[in-house]
Amino acid sequence: MPRSTDVVVVGAGVFGAWTALQLRRTGRTVTLLDAFGTGNTRSSSSGATRVLRVGYGADFIYSQWAQYSAHAWRELFREWRQELFIRTGVLWMSRDDSATNATIDTLSRLHVPFEVLDRGALDDRFPQFNFGPIQRGLLEPEAGVIFARRAVQMVVRQAVKQSVDYRIAAVAAPTGAGAISGLETSDGDRLTAGTYVFACGPWLPKLFPALLGRRIQSTRQEVFFFGADAGDRRFGPPEMPAWLDMAGGVYGVPDLEGRGFKIGLHHQGPPFDPDLDSRTVSDDALQVARMILSKRIPALEHAPLLEARVCQYANSGTGDFLIDQHPDHANVWLVGAGSGHGFKHGPAVGDYVATRLSERGGAEARFTLDAHRDDAERKIF
Ligand SMILES: Cc1cc2nc3c(=O)[nH]c(=O)nc-3n(C[C@H](O)[C@H](O)[C@H](O)COP(=O)(O)OP(=O)(O)OC[C@H]3O[C@@H](n4cnc5c(N)ncnc54)[C@H](O)[C@@H]3O)c2cc1C
Repeated sequence: MPRSTDVVVVGAGVFGAWTALQLRRTGRTVTLLDAFGTGNTRSSSSGATRVLRVGYGADFIYSQWAQYSAHAWRELFREWRQELFIRTGVLWMSRDDSATNATIDTLSRLHVPFEVLDRGALDDRFPQFNFGPIQRGLLEPEAGVIFARRAVQMVVRQAVKQSVDYRIAAVAAPTGAGAISGLETSDGDRLTAGTYVFACGPWLPKLFPALLGRRIQSTRQEVFFFGADAGDRRFGPPEMPAWLDMAGGVYGVPDLEGRGFKIGLHHQGPPFDPDLDSRTVSDDALQVARMILSKRIPALEHAPLLEARVCQYANSGTGDFLIDQHPDHANVWLVGAGSGHGFKHGPAVGDYVATRLSERGGAEARFTLDAHRDDAERKIF
């Protein structure tokens, strides 16, 4: 018996899960499915932690979305009485005054608290760091870290509580042209709906190779967790914030839940197939992480590696998300290209999709297919 709802959302990563929930909140009936289950280890939303900050240089829309989303995440955690956000503060390490000044401007406009720290203040406040070429710091004290896998699974629990039909099954991408009338699932069901949203993260270019193969690059990204000495609390909150050095291609998350001090390499890694490629970390990346540690956080130079993970970014050329209608299938929407910074924005992405489907809101040019060309220069970090 075919199951029919207003919308089918394919992919229950952070974008799909929030899209399903926000659509349901507008009164639509929704089916949400995921090939391996929400928060599965292959998905980009499955990491231990994701940084939630509001600063985005001059890119006001991402700051607005992050602020809106932070509120929505906190509401969800309150409703389930399980706090999955830790207010560690987020420290921007700045080599470039123009990006920092733009961030100061945006945070001021949005009334987001921040502190500007000159080099002397940085050295005094965070003696664990050797700041090297960093000249200034911008601290967002209200920002912090979300426990990602548990958070996205909570979004799906909330969606189910609000009567979203959630299933574990895969579907193939539509072929041919024109509006589609249904999707066959891997377990032999047929789902029908007015609208189909494909929020398949790094699988999108595999599902739609002609349209997205060059617009979204899935890349290998590695993260490492190092252990401080017994009893040494300098590398967890409140002593250590989450931190970002975008120009240096690196970010860090303090030790949370005893997992270790996380270093992530933010520069774009080699192409990565989310189904087939090896998830064993490379010696080269580990060496880079160790080199960064020895320069930046000398006390951890010889710290043991506790854990390491390979995940993937789904990068657009500019770093902007892709949220648009499929040009050949009027009732199919494509939602993805989180580009290594999408997790925090899940609620706003879902809200934007719900608004676009209701034809109330206009399209934001930067999220359209037209804006995503393969020769674009990366602008959003
Ligand atoms: C190492 C790392 C660090 C990051 N750090 C941050 C950070 O600090 N802050 C931040 O905001 N963001 C961060 N990000 C980015 C963020 O995690 C991603 O942008 C976000 O998780 C993308 O979510 P998604 O829903 O688009 O994709 P995914 O989470 O990958 O979800 C896609 C889902 O689709 C399903 N699927 C695929 N194909 C099918 C099919 N045919 N049928 C059914 N289901 C299917 C998959 O099983 C998967 O669950 C980071 C990413 C990585 C990898």
